[in-house]
Amino acid sequence: MRQRLVAGNWKMHGTRDGVKALIGELKAGIDRVKTAQVAVCPPYVFLPEVRDMLQGSAIALGAQDVCQIDGEGAYTGEVSAAMLSEFDCRYVIVGHSERRHIYDESDTLVVEKFVAARRQGLTPILCVGETLDQRESDQTEKVIGDQLEALFVLEHGADQLAHAVIAYEPVWAIGTGRTATPDQAQEVHAFIRRKVADYNPAIAEQVAILYGGSVKAGNAADLFAMADIDGGLIGGASLKADEFLAICAAAD
Ligand code: PEP
Repeated sequence: MRQRLVAGNWKMHGTRDGVKALIGELKAGIDRVKTAQVAVCPPYVFLPEVRDMLQGSAIALGAQDVCQIDGEGAYTGEVSAAMLSEFDCRYVIVGHSERRHIYDESDTLVVEKFVAARRQGLTPILCVGETLDQRESDQTEKVIGDQLEALFVLEHGADQLAHAVIAYEPVWAIGTGRTATPDQAQEVHAFIRRKVADYNPAIAEQVAILYGGSVKAGNAADLFAMADIDGGLIGGASLKADEFLAICAAAD
């Protein structure tokens, strides 16, 4: 049995008061979730406060991005994996499509971030996914294959997925209200698992592959029922405690 995970990507949302209220409501309702692991990924500035509020709860902490460079240095605006680790982050999202497309992050840079996170013992959530144009021109597998290959070309690259999570997020489904159907998502999840299996069948069986893209309480159960979907990476719906907890419970 693979460990199921539902992670909330808060993106650039929140105020100090709003964050306190949201975490309070999540903690109060987390008993609804029996077996799935739940994580929240707030903006960097909220990490210390959210870390403190989550002490003793079953909800894990994650960050939304990380610098690819280890140690300290003259990298204005960046946050290292060591810093995230010091604030008890367990997870870090790398290669979210907003980072790839708005900030031009390449497949190679994303994998450098993945490796930097692993070096500090963090569990990277490696996002992959195609745009609508790419899907419509039959390039979905090529695009996702290339995104994964950037990791696989490294020595023991695929082996690093033993301590990582993959998130399939079709770009056309993120924040659009348009969700991939369970069959569409399953097809790509199975492809991803086969790609990993080409390098390491044992890790392919074990690695959690999350689906992300307009997941809501109303569609989560159908998506999570698919054989290769092991939970979700949730954007907008992770900002509403009730909705997020219902999604998490659907992953049990
Ligand atoms: C995301 O940002 O990873 C995401 C899936 O967003 P949304 O759920 O809002 O589509």
